[in-house]
Amino acid sequence: MVEWGVRIMSATVRRDGGRWHVSFTTEVERVERMPAQPDSVVGVDVGIKHLAVLSTGLLVPNPSHLAAARSRMRTLSRAMSRKTGPDNRTGRRPSKRWERARARLARAHAQVANLRRDGLHKLTTRLTAEHGTIVVEDLNVTGMLANRRLARHVADAGFGEIRRQLAYKTVWNGGRLLVADRWYPSSKTCSACGAVRTKLALSEREYQCQMCGLLIDRDRNAALNLAALAAEFDTAGSGPVAARGADRKTRACGQVALKREPGTTPVGQTGTVPPQGRTTDHALTKAHSR
Ligand SMILES: [Zn+2]
Repeated sequence: MVEWGVRIMSATVRRDGGRWHVSFTTEVERVERMPAQPDSVVGVDVGIKHLAVLSTGLLVPNPSHLAAARSRMRTLSRAMSRKTGPDNRTGRRPSKRWERARARLARAHAQVANLRRDGLHKLTTRLTAEHGTIVVEDLNVTGMLANRRLARHVADAGFGEIRRQLAYKTVWNGGRLLVADRWYPSSKTCSACGAVRTKLALSEREYQCQMCGLLIDRDRNAALNLAALAAEFDTAGSGPVAARGADRKTRACGQVALKREPGTTPVGQTGTVPPQGRTTDHALTKAHSR
């Protein structure tokens, strides 16, 4: 069965981190697809310890070897700093050892990036093929990157990249992506009774509700809250979420022809309605606001 036709428009070859890369610009005709469970909703809490925690209770681990590759990257980086590098003021040329160390480090960098991208693609492909509705947070990634301690973790987990992939893959698979307003307190809200805690330290890995006594993994709680937003969105037509990716209009179009790299698929944001109480900051963003 031919599922879709592809026409290659152009190809670009480049060398990066000791590897050759070929990028193709293609025109793709896709048949209309449906997720395996069109009516199912999944909340995705993108994590630091795990790649993601789903409202279904599934923990998606970080790609294996990622930690090892990162540690190797640090070692190589230190090794390089001990060698004689170039000096623009004196015009000193870098040593052969420095050049070799730099090449090794570049390869290690590329390996880490590849592992991460691979893990994210597997996750987003699985999610969009399975579930009709995916709900994620709109994290203030720029604000988080300003915090140095978390910056590496955030960059590694690829919050923005997950969102980007989900946006175009939901279009491809006939599902939809809902993005929670960035002020929605998904971590601080009790997924059982709806009570909102005023404080939740980043170090608290368990969510404990003072109202109903619920004790649950922090990320799982957040994922459940995100999933619950979908029902709110469907009854109110808005709420603290914005539809992105395949909204009704897009789906009605049927086949979607893409004449560019998948990442550049425009994603429309429709009607974000901030919930009451903008001061109830998200626990993560709050930790970095200083
Ligand atoms: Zn509760």
